[in-house]
Amino acid sequence: MTVFDVILLTVVVVLAISLIKTNKSLRANEGAVSEQQRVIRELSILNELSASLHTSLDKGSVLEMIIEKARSLLRAEDAAILLINQGRRVTDFYTTTGPSNGCKTRLTGVFKRVITELITIRTDDISSLSDFSGVPPEHPRIRSVLMVPVILRGEPIGIVAAINKKDGSFDSNDEDLILNLAFHSALAIEKVKFHEEILRMASTDGLTGLNNHRTFQERLEQEIERARRFDVPLSLLMMDIDHFKKFNDTYGHTNGDEVLKVIAKILKDNVRNIDFVARYGGEEFAVILPQVNLEGALVVAERIRKAAEDYELNLDGQRERVTLSVGVATYPDDASTREELVDHADKALYLAKRTGRNRLCSFREGNGEK
Ligand code: GH3
Ligand code: MG
Ligand code: MG
Repeated sequence: MTVFDVILLTVVVVLAISLIKTNKSLRANEGAVSEQQRVIRELSILNELSASLHTSLDKGSVLEMIIEKARSLLRAEDAAILLINQGRRVTDFYTTTGPSNGCKTRLTGVFKRVITELITIRTDDISSLSDFSGVPPEHPRIRSVLMVPVILRGEPIGIVAAINKKDGSFDSNDEDLILNLAFHSALAIEKVKFHEEILRMASTDGLTGLNNHRTFQERLEQEIERARRFDVPLSLLMMDIDHFKKFNDTYGHTNGDEVLKVIAKILKDNVRNIDFVARYGGEEFAVILPQVNLEGALVVAERIRKAAEDYELNLDGQRERVTLSVGVATYPDDASTREELVDHADKALYLAKRTGRNRLCSFREGNGEK
């Protein structure tokens, strides 16, 4: 072997080694590129999620969007989200498997653990979780699950879960993803709740929590329209506290405010869910009774009048009572429009005032009919 041969052989060996090295690093590069592509894909989905979540102010659509994204992002067969209130009861429950019952239930088992310990649960074998229960019986079989708490300003507000990984197992990447998704979800849910609160404040009376005057007018218009369409009656009660000025003068405005709250509660406790109670003005209240004729309305009015009369107030150690006068008018017999119905119930109310207070009068009897 000549010196030339040795040099040639060395060059060939060096070249071969460097080729092998290049090949290896190329493969490593390919791995890095596909990893980068995965991260980019996931980031763009999260970005898209956070943008789309902020397009809606409706809680139901936002929650549906979250679980749809959770399912696609985590390659899961299903996804679910539940929200809790401050008493840690479930207020909303959505799954991608279909309509959820939305029942108010207490958190139990693993769900309670996720909320109280703020932990992530990841398992390929659900039977290893002895406290996994409370899933609706109609839900398809669950094999694997990945769930995390949804946290807002350090407080848990719900749980988001991916169910049954389509290919393989949920891994630590999935964990990062769902945590990211839960973070974006918390912000979107906060925005929706804030919006709901603004709407509630705009439609209710701050002192009594009853519907306010504006909401009352809108609702009455809608109810009359409905009564007209379905050809059913509707009654309106207008109420006013008797001698309330004297009461305020004797016990002070703060005690007066307490009485308004008591009356509001009496009204709510004595009507059906579909009835609509409002604070009409200062110490005047109104109740819309859909599908109720005069006879039925007088029964409800008497029940309210009696409940107010029987309620014993305790004011600075003094026992006191307040009474109500009530006017009743019914659509379509007494009025054909909202304005007319309010006006006629009001006329009946003032007839009750003129004829002694702590009593009910109907618009019809004011017009000489019984
Ligand atoms: P009547 O039996 O004829 O209804 O007598 P009244 O004293 O109840 O009627 P009037 O309209 O003269 O007085 C209503 C009183 O209601 C006057 C006002 O001080 C009181 N009032 C109205 N709004 C509020 C409120 O938000 N809080 C309190 N504490 N009092 C209120
Ligand atoms: Mg008044
Ligand atoms: Mg009054």
